Amino acid sequence: MFGPPGAGKGTQAQLLAKKHSWRWLSTGQLLRDSDDPRIHAIMKSGALVSDDDMNIVVGNALAGIPSGVDVIMDGYPRIPEQAKWLIKKNKELGRRIDTVISLVVSDEETFKRLNGRGRADDTPETMNVRSKLYHQKTEPLLSLFEREGIAVVRVNGEGSVEEIYERVDRAVQSCLQK
Ligand code: AMP
Repeated sequence: MFGPPGAGKGTQAQLLAKKHSWRWLSTGQLLRDSDDPRIHAIMKSGALVSDDDMNIVVGNALAGIPSGVDVIMDGYPRIPEQAKWLIKKNKELGRRIDTVISLVVSDEETFKRLNGRGRADDTPETMNVRSKLYHQKTEPLLSLFEREGIAVVRVNGEGSVEEIYERVDRAVQSCLQK
């Protein structure tokens, strides 16, 4: 599940996970649950946590999910190095990336939403850093996936949670039928 900060990735990913009995794997949530102050300091700045740390977090999370259970990843991968690592890791685990969902929400709308959320990393400065990182580093991964032959579906992420979920689920169903 791709989308800029404040796109509603977590909300939509959890709804999908519930409906399809998938495991929700949110790297942001796993990191927020960490008791390492170093990780919290990085997150508070809006920067990305190092790949070494992420490999441990994601590696451990995937290792704990039975192979027959499908996973919806939320917030990972965010940079080409992570995408490459995941593709390699998936091969080891007998998994593959099936579909990429990209929630499309304007910067104006995401900033409005983040203002109302009040998480520790939702200050205006941090929001700028995170939004820039998304557009510069993460969004280009979508074309990388397309070049790899992975289905990328772009869904309008503006509207009510229910409206967006309907669009997301319809997009997912059409990919699952292929
Ligand atoms: P999120 O909940 O996805 O908005 O992530 C919140 C914060 O956690 C990000 O701003 C990063 O500091 C960190 N984070 C989450 N996922 C990653 C990732 N894949 N790589 C590096 N840092 C991450």
